[in-house]
Amino acid sequence: MSEPVLFVGCPTCGKAVSKQAAACPSCGHQFKAPGAFNPFHDLVHGCLVLVVIGFVLFCILAIGKM
Ligand SMILES: [Zn+2]
Repeated sequence: MSEPVLFVGCPTCGKAVSKQAAACPSCGHQFKAPGAFNPFHDLVHGCLVLVVIGFVLFCILAIGKM
C-alpha cells in the first residue's frame, strides 16, 4: 500500500466515501471541496442557524411579555 486511501463519512447517507471522490457513489451527495472535506463545517453552520432561530424566538417571547 504505497498510497493510503482515506475515507470520510458521507453526511447524507453515512457511508464511507473516498476523500478524493467529488460525489458520494451511493447517494450522489456532492462534496464542496474534494480532498479537503471538513465534516465540522456543516455542523457549525447548523448550530449557528439554531442559535439565531432561538434568539429570534426569545426576542419575540420577551417582547410579548412586556
Ligand atoms: Zn452518500
